[in-house]
Amino acid sequence: MTGNATFSEKASHEGVGSIRSVSVINMGTGEVHREHIHGSRKPALWWIFFGRRWVTIPINVYVIEHSDGLVLFDTGQNRAVVTDPDFWPKGVTGTFMRHLFRFHIAPDDSLTGQLEKAGYSAGDVRKAVFSHLHSDHVGGIREIPQAELLVSNEEWENMLRPHAERHMIFRRDIEIPGAKWEQISFRPTDDPSIAPFTHAFDLMGDGSMVLLPTPGHTPGSLSMLVRCDDAPPLLFIGDLAYGVELLERGELPGTGDHKQLRAGFAKVLALKERMPDLVILAAHDPKAAEALREASSRR
Ligand SMILES: [Zn+2]
Repeated sequence: MTGNATFSEKASHEGVGSIRSVSVINMGTGEVHREHIHGSRKPALWWIFFGRRWVTIPINVYVIEHSDGLVLFDTGQNRAVVTDPDFWPKGVTGTFMRHLFRFHIAPDDSLTGQLEKAGYSAGDVRKAVFSHLHSDHVGGIREIPQAELLVSNEEWENMLRPHAERHMIFRRDIEIPGAKWEQISFRPTDDPSIAPFTHAFDLMGDGSMVLLPTPGHTPGSLSMLVRCDDAPPLLFIGDLAYGVELLERGELPGTGDHKQLRAGFAKVLALKERMPDLVILAAHDPKAAEALREASSRR
């Protein structure tokens, strides 16, 4: 597990500059097949059932302290996956999940525990943005009942399709009583600073946190651009890629819609060309803490 890291900002009082700090917390680790991260010429079903090379990846949750409140990007995996033998449904779906993932989540790897370790309280979370609705991103929802939960319209629609659980999307863990879900629609924008993206959603209304559509890993996957006055911009890409080097090398993962993923990679790299100091952070990037520390030193 990598250590928690904080990227601190001087509080600013006008316009884009209302980001006070950005940190990463780790909610345990997962093991996935090497082919899951790096892709394979073999069919997915082959490596899922016969692959023998497992890679350990952290389950990162990003914590953004905005002047209007605490915002999370994803919420990790519910620890019940390691304590409840019936966590995965029986039958094909459960068999599939057990061959796809192995989780290692300690008792203090809860969202509440890790937020406290970072100096926050789960009760302070105002919004949680979901890159997508896979099980290892929605696990902390029950710990933040007061928070607005934001997901793209497309991802919500995807969850409502029959057999979403075969794609690691479990409605029982998402549509929980009292959860304050809000589906967002990306709006057309001609903001040249985020080209080539033509659609976006301004989360706080001040341009400091902008959601961008990056489908491919799932049909409604999104990324979040965080901008401050005096620090490098950050782009949280969820599971678009499992690390920035893979994105830069154009190495597509083993799952998802490759055509959409390729387009997403190209857009993110084009954005980086316009913003050379852009720091790209994946949800399972083992180097996230290091990247945030480095970005912080460039203030
Ligand atoms: Zn995912």
